Amino acid sequence: MESSDHPPVKSRLSRKEFLNLTGKSLAGAAGTFALGAVISNNAYGQDRKVALSPPAEIPADVEEPIVLEPWKSDADQQSAPTPTPLPPSRRIGYAVVGLGHLALEEILPALSNCKKSKLTALVSGSPEKLKKVAAQYGIAPENCYSYQTYDQIKNNKEVDVIYIVLPNGLHKEYVIRGAQAGKHILCEKPMANTAAECRDMLSACSKAGVKLMVAYRIHYQPHNRKLREMIQKKEFGVAKFVEAHNSQSTANVNHWRHKKALAGGGALPDIGLYCLNTTRFVLGEEPVEVFAYQYSTPGNPLFKEIEELVSWQMRFPSGVIANCATDYDVHESRRYRVNCKTGWMNIDQAYAYKGQKLTTSKADGLMKRTEEIGLAENNQFAAEMDHFSDCILNNKKPFTPGEEGLQDHIIMEAIYQSAREGKPVKINGIAATNTWKGQEPEM
Ligand code: NAD
Repeated sequence: MESSDHPPVKSRLSRKEFLNLTGKSLAGAAGTFALGAVISNNAYGQDRKVALSPPAEIPADVEEPIVLEPWKSDADQQSAPTPTPLPPSRRIGYAVVGLGHLALEEILPALSNCKKSKLTALVSGSPEKLKKVAAQYGIAPENCYSYQTYDQIKNNKEVDVIYIVLPNGLHKEYVIRGAQAGKHILCEKPMANTAAECRDMLSACSKAGVKLMVAYRIHYQPHNRKLREMIQKKEFGVAKFVEAHNSQSTANVNHWRHKKALAGGGALPDIGLYCLNTTRFVLGEEPVEVFAYQYSTPGNPLFKEIEELVSWQMRFPSGVIANCATDYDVHESRRYRVNCKTGWMNIDQAYAYKGQKLTTSKADGLMKRTEEIGLAENNQFAAEMDHFSDCILNNKKPFTPGEEGLQDHIIMEAIYQSAREGKPVKINGIAATNTWKGQEPEM
């Protein structure tokens, strides 16, 4: 339909060229482009009430966006390029393991937003939930597995990736079994309970020749990426110190998050991890020393096995110091600020699923300018899954590979040690970021 309404433009045009050309054509000049002919032929549909396709640039490659006729002036924020979904037959198939809060509330819906990824299988311990979710998402009974039949995924050609969304203490077992089934692995954060478990997972994936990525969604979130770019470009001079908090309240003493064997720890590996991992991400360097305090309200059954509060400092080679805190028993707070020589950058709701607000402050003569940088939000889960799919389709290393998860566990173990011993702990055995990090995501 599109091409018979008017032929596609043969080469890519910038928005400005497109506007110029359209403007010229509308003014009556018959352009050499097919576009001009269409416009003059039907008077652009303005004086006849007919359905037609206005001029558009339509590249043949499905991965190139269609460029629609612009209509906004430069005075307004421009629209993002039109999405470029791959046809379903070319997308990477995902089996999601564990149908709890994160899987049902975020990951399965996000798969419908993906351009390179699709849901092809489900794994759950509850036959009733499996049946219902499979019906909701159109997954055939033969693509539904229990934890007992999980290893049979090996024979399912529709599954390229296994996405582990189980309690932390089960990640290692299900990652290793998944790798042995020959599937690429996307594993939720924290990667495991300990650095030793991470090493076993890395070696199992490497032995099986499959890719391993940790689902650090913040690396695929526009506001956090923008702040990182501002640090890299030294827009406010060098970074000096970081303040980061990630806290929330919990109430269910029976939940796995309060059982040491399943959670690995308390607030630190679950949500404090975001302060740690995002600080490393935006600074682009690894801490060399940590100092920490840990506290749990005495007598609170929620904190019988795991900790409530951890407050810690990290010292980086450049001289930056990060002050971080996490708590499981306060009103939600998820923010950080990077203080630089000539200004600061701040993100409220930094680690949330949505609602990030990036503000900056700097002096300008007699004025102090505080600016909010408005960026379009994305679905972080869809972006991270599509990045992993892209890595599989093009044989690239993921931006947040298993080594990224191992680094965090080495640092968290040093944080716990420091809190126990009441003194700073040097971090050993950590690799420089650029030695293992994969391709930057296309965003
Ligand atoms: P959840 O308790 O809601 O879901 C866990 C799932 O694991 C459930 O379906 C449960 O049935 C299953 N399960 C299997 N064996 C279990 C056992 N022995 N005990 C308890 N559950 C068992 O948890 P969740 O919040 O969905 O978290 C799952 C994973 O996702 C965790 O690793 C968590 O850290 C991670 N997570 C990540 C994000 C993020 O933003 N990336 C957010 C929340 C959770």
